[in-house]
Amino acid sequence: MSTIDSNTRRMEKIVSLCKRRGFIFQSSEIYGGLNGFWDYGPMGVELKRNLKDFWWRRTVRERDDMVGMDGSIIMNRAVWKASGHEATFSDPMVDCKSCKARHRADQLPEKGGAKYCPNCGSRELTEPRDFNLMFKSHAGPLETEDNLVYLRPETAQAMFVNFRNVLDTSRKKLPFGIAQIGKAFRNEINPRNYIFRSREFEQMEIEYFCRAEDGLALTDYWLEQRLRFYEDIGIPREKIHIVDIPDGDRAFYSKKTYDLEYEFPFGVSELEGIAYRTDYDLSAHIAASGKPLDYFDEVTKEKFVPHVVEPSAGVDRTTLALICEAFAEETVTDEKGNAETRTVLRFHPRMAPIKAGIFPLLKNKPELVAKAREIVDLLRPHMMVQSDESGAIGRRYRRQDEVGTPFCVTVDFATIGESERGEEGQGSNASGQLDTVTLRHRDSMQQERIAIADLRDWLLERIR
Ligand code: ATP
Repeated sequence: MSTIDSNTRRMEKIVSLCKRRGFIFQSSEIYGGLNGFWDYGPMGVELKRNLKDFWWRRTVRERDDMVGMDGSIIMNRAVWKASGHEATFSDPMVDCKSCKARHRADQLPEKGGAKYCPNCGSRELTEPRDFNLMFKSHAGPLETEDNLVYLRPETAQAMFVNFRNVLDTSRKKLPFGIAQIGKAFRNEINPRNYIFRSREFEQMEIEYFCRAEDGLALTDYWLEQRLRFYEDIGIPREKIHIVDIPDGDRAFYSKKTYDLEYEFPFGVSELEGIAYRTDYDLSAHIAASGKPLDYFDEVTKEKFVPHVVEPSAGVDRTTLALICEAFAEETVTDEKGNAETRTVLRFHPRMAPIKAGIFPLLKNKPELVAKAREIVDLLRPHMMVQSDESGAIGRRYRRQDEVGTPFCVTVDFATIGESERGEEGQGSNASGQLDTVTLRHRDSMQQERIAIADLRDWLLERIR
């Protein structure tokens, strides 16, 4: 199989696993779906939440120089006029004259110097024309031009227009940053590659305000912070390509931009952009609103417009990268000596949707079931656990492997001080194992014995 075929096959398997095990569903599926929109199921929502919580922890809670906010999705249209989005947030669109498919002109394949339609191969294409990606709506009952509003295409603008509010209320000194996680909407001409390019998605954005002279060094500082973040969620540095966007290709106001790209099965593609945006955004809002979004340095008595470094990451793209990175198939031998394929998501334990599967060895033995219940209640306030009582233990392990659960806990006869034949534990080693459980590791499939009393702290240490 060629690399392209095997990558396509890998992506198909990932998409199928995500549907089968409740990570990602097509939006409005029973009505045929809606192109560019996706729903997260019970596993997907936990994974995404773990990602966002960890980003918030690293970015806001563990730092003195960052604060968070949560802006509205719909803002005054004047924001988008001032930011330049109304005039220029567009992609060049072309139509294929033959099959009528619509494409982004800058993403068309080329053969012999000529672009062609990836759908039917025709070279008969319309001239590119600009298509604004912002979704429109109206605030209020009248669909008039005066009531026109946009769904935000990025979360960033709420942080710029609130710069003064945040500065005055948080009493931060430069350099400091504002962080925000939230939905953004872009009417992408061609949504594709699963949740990679969709029309509704989430962003995790930082606006880090600083003095002009520190902008370039802080851009490199944030590059390093963000690479560490990816490592800490299980995406190794070697899998991330850092693209230093050359002069001429950057936005005109940006003095430095790095794109962080990940090796997805469908190709190396952008996860995050880190842009040194100078004082462009605050200056644009000062000019348009007439409000003083500047900074007064109490020591030097200078007044100036801060510069900003913006690390902007996609929640959905990172979620997809986590799934792609974790997905593995391996050949293992079952208890009867037969080779079988084990599908496993090797998530970092802190990202895994379920931290531990809790199983009574037999579901028709009330003491085992009750003990397993006790363990669930013990762990539940601290982490996501799942109990599973049905099927052979091996099958239950496999089910947890498929959703990436790093640890499984089995309550067996030794736990309740009995041997397997149901006798009180004399003679066997069962009595020494009272109130211990079997702990099974997802990756090595090794098992060990651990006291129930130690279980919570043992797990917490590994999932934090
Ligand atoms: P692209 O070039 O892939 O369209 P972009 O450079 O326009 O992306 P930015 O405007 O820098 O993207 O947005 C910051 C981040 O938001 C991106 O790095 C990506 O993770 C995420 N993002 C942007 N557009 C989408 C989308 N359509 N679907 C999912 N995530 C997106």
